[in-house]
Amino acid sequence: MQSPPSDADQRRNIKPVICYPVDGLPRRDLLLYAKALEGAEKIGETLVPARDARMFTVPAGHFFRMSCPEGPQVGDLNLWNADDITERFYTGKTRALHGTHVTTGESLWSSFPMLRPMATVTTDTLGWYGIDPFGGSVHDVIGTRCDPYTGNLLSGTHYHHCCHSNLTRALADHLDVALKEAEPHVHDVLNVFMCTGFTRDTGQYFMKASPVRQGDYLELFAEIDLLGALSACPGGDCSSEHSSDEAQCHPLLVEVFKPAVGALDGWEPPQPNGYDGTHGR
Ligand SMILES: [Zn+2]
Repeated sequence: MQSPPSDADQRRNIKPVICYPVDGLPRRDLLLYAKALEGAEKIGETLVPARDARMFTVPAGHFFRMSCPEGPQVGDLNLWNADDITERFYTGKTRALHGTHVTTGESLWSSFPMLRPMATVTTDTLGWYGIDPFGGSVHDVIGTRCDPYTGNLLSGTHYHHCCHSNLTRALADHLDVALKEAEPHVHDVLNVFMCTGFTRDTGQYFMKASPVRQGDYLELFAEIDLLGALSACPGGDCSSEHSSDEAQCHPLLVEVFKPAVGALDGWEPPQPNGYDGTHGR
């Protein structure tokens, strides 16, 4: 390695600048959402079996709540615009705007050219966790998803119940298309309940046992009509390993709630991004 220059420490000690100050983001009305939730009625639920995925839909202006009814379990979430699945959850930009992990008040943003909030976190019972001494936190948008390709690269395996495969099968069945047609629509996930970070010394992605317990939940408000897919990760609580049948796994529950008539008066779904789309031509 090249030896450091004489002003190395001076350069290292320059203070960072936040890339995207979020003060200018269009605000979602969290107080209105909280009030709408009070009188909301549960209209459906989907149980996601361990090591598998299930699809669900959430109309704009409804809430969906993800929980672990039987024990600690991490979930991998994909979201699409229910009317056009080319608009999908964009973890990279969500991360750039809100940080490596999301919690109450933060939105999940959609892909270009729409770039608008698809859903906004209204309740996170693990919000108390914050950032632990290892730099870990909960509900990340950094971990992509467990997949059989990386498993094959690292250990030559052909494991078929990674979140990527679970999401691919679920979407293929939902759209009634071949796996090959569904697979390109599966995208980087919100790692619900997963506790992750980057090691300070090597910068590597790490996971640790999720702090989630029965009764905890992550609840979001659907800003647009949503098609969702949730995989109960084969890593279970992700305390040891994933991409195998070794870890103890549990199901996940998705519940959908409909606000009372009039509870969202004044609310409007976010419009597509205002950029004119000409790219200089
Ligand atoms: Zn997984």
